[in-house]
Amino acid sequence: MEVLAALTRLQEETKCPICLDNLKDPITIDCGHNFCRSCIQQSQADLQEGFRCPVCRQQCDEGHYKINTQLGRMIETAKLLHLSGRKRKRQNHQGHYLRPIQE
Ligand SMILES: [Zn+2]
Ligand SMILES: [Zn+2]
Repeated sequence: MEVLAALTRLQEETKCPICLDNLKDPITIDCGHNFCRSCIQQSQADLQEGFRCPVCRQQCDEGHYKINTQLGRMIETAKLLHLSGRKRKRQNHQGHYLRPIQE
């Protein structure tokens, strides 16, 4: 079940560390961490000077935020996978056999 394990991990990666929900309009800041755009804007409103990443505490420059549309699409895809994966049937390994090659 490596696919499911990877999927679970992917879903963890697509969570916002501030609101703990799926990232909305994800942006990537200087240190490489991702947050919702609205979460970052709210966090910034509390601070008069500079912004520190809530995860790694690195000071990040406001002008360096990058809107991460690729991650946004990945999150949408992960949601679809999650829905379709719920009713997955358990696979049976006994259904196959090999025929010996005859010469
Ligand atoms: Zn958020
Ligand atoms: Zn960080």
